[in-house]
Amino acid sequence: MQIRSAEFKCSNTRTEKLPPPVLPEYAFIGRSNVGKSSLINMLTNKKGLAKTSQTPGKTQLINHFLINENWYIVDLPGYGYAKVSRKSREEWERFIRYYLKNRENLQCVFVLIDSRLEPQKADLDFCFWLGEHGIPFVLTFTKADKQSKVKTLQNVNGFKKAFLEYFEEVPQYFITSSENQEGRDDVLAFINEVNGR
Ligand code: GDP
Repeated sequence: MQIRSAEFKCSNTRTEKLPPPVLPEYAFIGRSNVGKSSLINMLTNKKGLAKTSQTPGKTQLINHFLINENWYIVDLPGYGYAKVSRKSREEWERFIRYYLKNRENLQCVFVLIDSRLEPQKADLDFCFWLGEHGIPFVLTFTKADKQSKVKTLQNVNGFKKAFLEYFEEVPQYFITSSENQEGRDDVLAFINEVNGR
């Protein structure tokens, strides 16, 4: 899929103010610092679209980016940031989980996983929660350029193994790098296919 246009539409702290649930949307989420903003900028080919390297856990916003005037990328606040207060974590839970469970035009959640790390409990727990609620998701391993292909595959396989302790099968997954655009075509082809269904 060609990206012809990508524009910031709105930031919200409340689900009532989101755009009308008409166009298909794809939510991107992961632990703080996983590379979510960089990935959104890489996919859209627009450097400053999503703000990279903000202080993690500060603002709990749902950002909508309108792509090609007919679908949305939704940038969700990161989870698993240790220094966030309990109150703000609870707010995150309420707000994001409500969005994920109730958003009728949500097509798929991209769960971002840092390809440099061993399987992280926060990621597995989050996938488990999505599975439990029947929310469709795919995995996206980030920062693949940071190490050798062999090491990336080792970590991907480690994650798959941990995943299979909870689930019967591993969902579709992508290996990406915002540095060298690895995985870009595959992610966009996937979205294009789902949009066409
Ligand atoms: P976010 O908090 O999940 O939105 O993460 P950011 O996109 O702000 O990225 C966090 C840090 O990782 C920044 O310093 C990015 O430059 C870096 N980063 C993100 N993605 C990649 C990648 O694919 N390759 C490399 N080498 N660095 C990345």
